[in-house]
Amino acid sequence: MALRVGVVGGGQLARMMIAPAVELGIELSVLAEQPDMSAHLAASAVGDYRDTDTVLAFARGVDVVTFDHEHVPQPVLHALVDAGIAVHPGPDALLYAQDKLRMRARLDELGMPQPDWAAVSDVAGLQAFIDDHGGRAVVKTPRGGYDGKGVRVVRAAAEAEDWFAALAEDAHGGQLLVEELVEFRRELSQQVARRPSGEVRAYPVVETVQRDGVCAEVIAPAPHVNDRLVATAAQVGVGIAEGVGVTGMLAVELFETTDDRILVNELAMRPHNSGHWSQDGAVTGQFEQHLRAVLDLPLGDASPRRPWSVMVNILGGPAEGAIEDCFAAVMAAHPDAKIHTYGKTPRPGRKVGHVNVVGDDLDDVAYDAHAAASFFEG
Ligand code: ADP
Repeated sequence: MALRVGVVGGGQLARMMIAPAVELGIELSVLAEQPDMSAHLAASAVGDYRDTDTVLAFARGVDVVTFDHEHVPQPVLHALVDAGIAVHPGPDALLYAQDKLRMRARLDELGMPQPDWAAVSDVAGLQAFIDDHGGRAVVKTPRGGYDGKGVRVVRAAAEAEDWFAALAEDAHGGQLLVEELVEFRRELSQQVARRPSGEVRAYPVVETVQRDGVCAEVIAPAPHVNDRLVATAAQVGVGIAEGVGVTGMLAVELFETTDDRILVNELAMRPHNSGHWSQDGAVTGQFEQHLRAVLDLPLGDASPRRPWSVMVNILGGPAEGAIEDCFAAVMAAHPDAKIHTYGKTPRPGRKVGHVNVVGDDLDDVAYDAHAAASFFEG
């Protein structure tokens, strides 16, 4: 009997689980939001992930349920668990990827390094925090943010008045998260895989480069590190995976501060953009690793196959025509580039694919990855 994994959410992360699933002979099915989504290549059901009956019906046909995103509501997740269905990551872990306020409180309990933060319910509370932190702060909506939406740098509490007004209209009330504005040299990401029976494996810490709040590029491993930084990042990643009970892939987004500290920004409990390099650059890519982990199979080697990997996102895609129209030119010019596309219609700023290049010399690798990706843009 084939192993059967069900993925809730039909985006590119579900899509990229398909190739390793086919290689291993795992039956992958997807509950997609719409019929024509990125992951339509897998046997797909179409339905609303917020509807308990829809998700339960989907889950009954698989051995384990996992996710392309973190938005499945807690009551739906608990209904799955109550029905005896294996869910990885489980609701109690996933909560901390769904709600940034709960995450900050839990990371404090675990003693993890993070920015100063507070939960604020009104303009006065926010202003007090800003005054205590040098006249500026970062305000975040605890739920539903992505790619920098729901994150705002403010110098006065009035700049978040609209968000407080929206909270006031919410029947459940609620609070905003406010954090000190961290002065960072760069952003890093630490990925860890953990299986239900406890085995963990850490990937090398990587550098992530964001533009306009969106990940543009990843360098793996992060260049210009020392042993202390590498060890600290791995300890933080493994400590969170174990402390929160994550199963599957975990990404811990980190700041490397100007005063030489590592602070946790946020958590993602699924394969992550910062790990796409591993598809071509690691012994075990993150999508295969996620499948192994959620099926509680022994984890694969997470070490790099070559000294350097660079991943460059294709943001937006060609202004006219399809991504495939660029293939002949880019493949002729960059035979070493591995091209990954998501089956999405090009639109300004949208992540429609990425390019991975691996090799021995970081300058060569980075140059080729950028040059190849640029064929797809504009
Ligand atoms: P999202 O959930 O939308 O990805 P994040 O919390 O990761 O939001 O924030 C998006 C970006 O905003 C981060 O990658 C970072 O560049 C910046 N940012 C977030 N929090 C802080 C902070 N406390 N200090 C400085 N910059 C921050």
